[in-house]
Amino acid sequence: METIYNYVNGELIPPREGNYLQVFAPSSGQPYAKVPNSCYEDVNQAYESANNAFDNWSELTSDERGDYLIAIANELEKKIDFFSQLESRDTGKPITLAKTLDIPRSILNLKFFSESSKKFDFTIELTSKNSKNTIIRSPIGVVGCISPWNLPLYLFSWKIAPALITGNTVIAKPSEITPFTAFKFSELCQKVGLPPGVLNIVHGNGVQTGKAIVAHPKIKAISFTGGTNTGKKIAQKAIGTFKKLALEMGGKNPAIIFSDCNYDNMIHNVVKSSFMNQGQICLCTSRILVEMSIYEKFKSDFINRISKLKIGDPAKKTTEFGAITSLSQFKKVMSYIKRAKNEGGKVLTGGSSIKFSGFHKSGWYIAPTVIEDVKINSKINQEEIFGPVVTLIPFKNESEAIKIANDTKYGLSATVWSEDKVKSNRVSEGLEAGIVWENCWMVRDLRTPFGGLKSSGYGKEGGGRGISFFY
Ligand code: NAD
Repeated sequence: METIYNYVNGELIPPREGNYLQVFAPSSGQPYAKVPNSCYEDVNQAYESANNAFDNWSELTSDERGDYLIAIANELEKKIDFFSQLESRDTGKPITLAKTLDIPRSILNLKFFSESSKKFDFTIELTSKNSKNTIIRSPIGVVGCISPWNLPLYLFSWKIAPALITGNTVIAKPSEITPFTAFKFSELCQKVGLPPGVLNIVHGNGVQTGKAIVAHPKIKAISFTGGTNTGKKIAQKAIGTFKKLALEMGGKNPAIIFSDCNYDNMIHNVVKSSFMNQGQICLCTSRILVEMSIYEKFKSDFINRISKLKIGDPAKKTTEFGAITSLSQFKKVMSYIKRAKNEGGKVLTGGSSIKFSGFHKSGWYIAPTVIEDVKINSKINQEEIFGPVVTLIPFKNESEAIKIANDTKYGLSATVWSEDKVKSNRVSEGLEAGIVWENCWMVRDLRTPFGGLKSSGYGKEGGGRGISFFY
């Protein structure tokens, strides 16, 4: 059993009360590590260390701060294989995905914010006829960054990089379900000599450690990514403390497929958008709206493509679809499938767990699942499942597609598939979503703002918006 430590004041230390949680490998369903379940005192100790570090850190230039982030990114780059293995073991995602998406994007996050802060105006002079005004953007102080389990190091670095580059000091809490890469990240910080207290990583679950960060009266801002219900709880707790909040939450993302799309490009990408990371990306497609005239063709081609996905051991380079990241998520996804069946849904493929033999016999695997004939207002079409389950919905025309797509409380992302640029732009503009992709998916320019509408987001991340949140 490996032991994870908190990273406070530059040191790796155990939690004060000695409480730990188990960390599991989803591919085998077996525990392999223990992670601190830190209490309020641990958080407060991290706060003291972050507060002591604040003056010196905030007085550095952003270039000087950026040099530390780039040094960490370079160390991470040297260890990309090692970190990819850790991320795959912790999450159950295919190692190839960890190596091509998670770890490269973590490196890029650190470099991107280091670079973009150079172009950011920290001081702005405004001169008019009879006055000269100076706007000085100062860091907030000690801030909290709380991240989820689906893209562990990717989203952890996406938060801490803009927070640090702007001169704040940070208390970060990775998900207790997938804490390992953040733990190893602390060792990189030590290696490059990041000043003690600038970044503190306090591990633990949401109800204890997460709550303690949100409740701490002197932590001045919270940048959170996770479920909508958790975001709501954080907002309710934080409101009385007047903390600044950015909440990136769940989604129920539609793909709208018109008959005039580039069919091969569309189907290749819709398989990816539905099942990459076992459907556990907030931006994954979960409702597939298909124009009536190509519905039957799409259905059979889509199922055929899914049958070719290589499902199995996440550690194998050829695997395309791995395990569900936690037992509770596994149970949640299975309960939605059961519910869809009870609601009259027709399972076209999947619909059950997968059992392997040997080392993986107790792993948490669910077959990619496609369901049709469920009502638009059913739970399966309204609630976020966050797993390898999509529904198929036929539509007659553009306005019906937009109406169905917008008919949930979420508004995170959407994709539109059509070669008619005027139509696809018009549809995109009608969609209530923070980001809409036309004829592609997950293509990100980090300079663009990122964040959902409605119950999917409160505040924006990304580019200048990510940086300006931390002032
Ligand atoms: P979660 O809300 O359960 O947990 C997210 C983080 O919050 C974890 O670190 C957790 O320990 C912590 N937490 C839980 N309860 C807390 C509380 N009361 N106070 C403070 N912290 C608390 O989410 P999850 O299950 O880890 O992640 C899946 C969810 O994240 C999905 O809904 C997914 O859509 C969403 N997500 C959103 C985005 C986005 O950018 N919009 C990106 C990735 C994931």
